Amino acid sequence: MKSRPVFSCPEEKHGSKMAFLDGNPPERLCLPIVNHIQSLGGEVRLNSRIQKIELNKDGTVKNFLLNNGNVIEGDVYVFATPVDVLKLLLPEDWKEIPYFRKLEKLVGVPVINVHIWFDRKLKNTYDHLLFSRSPLLSVYADMSVTCKEYYDPNRSMLELVFAPAEEWISKSDQEIIDATMMELTKLFPDEISADHSKAKILKYHVVKTPRSVYKTVPDCEPCRPLQRSPVEGFYLAGDYTKQKYLASMEGAVLSGKFCAQAIVQDYELLASRGQKKLAEASLL
Ligand SMILES: Cc1cc2nc3c(=O)[nH]c(=O)nc-3n(C[C@H](O)[C@H](O)[C@H](O)COP(=O)(O)OP(=O)(O)OC[C@H]3O[C@@H](n4cnc5c(N)ncnc54)[C@H](O)[C@@H]3O)c2cc1C
Repeated sequence: MKSRPVFSCPEEKHGSKMAFLDGNPPERLCLPIVNHIQSLGGEVRLNSRIQKIELNKDGTVKNFLLNNGNVIEGDVYVFATPVDVLKLLLPEDWKEIPYFRKLEKLVGVPVINVHIWFDRKLKNTYDHLLFSRSPLLSVYADMSVTCKEYYDPNRSMLELVFAPAEEWISKSDQEIIDATMMELTKLFPDEISADHSKAKILKYHVVKTPRSVYKTVPDCEPCRPLQRSPVEGFYLAGDYTKQKYLASMEGAVLSGKFCAQAIVQDYELLASRGQKKLAEASLL
């Protein structure tokens, strides 16, 4: 996984801000979070997908059943998957609750990420995320310039978002690379040609995300859910939940903060629920 720019453009009053991580997200973003959780006695389990949300008779969460057969029980449940996964795993009993029913309007769009390593340095790239005039390549960056980990004074490495990708998601990597090169000939006419007679590709990587961030269609904003759900003890986090940014890494972080705040606000209620459960268990 490569570095991503983190932006907070459209909602900011004092101009856009953009920054690249100086390395790859698993190491530079996720690992410090994992270390922090572990230092406080928490545990992070990888490759543990939620397969089913199992409910108590009163409609609250009994546990999460994982795909490896493990069962996770908690005092509080935070569901932080993309919205399409939540919709897929939504228990039947919750589907008619308006808070969850509104999620139908939030639908992830397919996106393709293309990484190309060239044999030379392209001249017209900058130390910034670039919005392209190509109808297929929405934004791109020369990672050999923008990102410390990929710094290379002699060779460019372009990372491009290929979108809208509905018509391309099922095509082969080669077809996607060919189409990307066609577009790049327009952006770098002196340096790139579709027949590869100018800059040569050393290697490439195509990453397809069939359901990425939700598509912003008219009237979808009121369908974004608050982090506190109407089901006691069940919370949502993720870029699609209610926060001031569109779907983005910064939006996802903000949603996590709001989620944590909601849990802290509900502490007394959640604690008394835990006591009640304990009392019920001791009666059995
Ligand atoms: C190609 C591409 C480029 C992007 N570029 C940028 C960018 O430059 N800057 C920016 O700010 N944003 C960018 N975004 C958007 C950004 O990646 C998202 O907004 C952000 O990652 C959303 O974070 P999240 O925590 O809500 O969801 P995710 O990051 O999608 O995290 C959800 C997690 O849920 C896990 N999960 C899925 N199913 C299950 C299950 N059943 N059980 C348990 N866990 C599950 C997934 O493995 C994943 O780890 C880009 C997105 C794409 C696709």
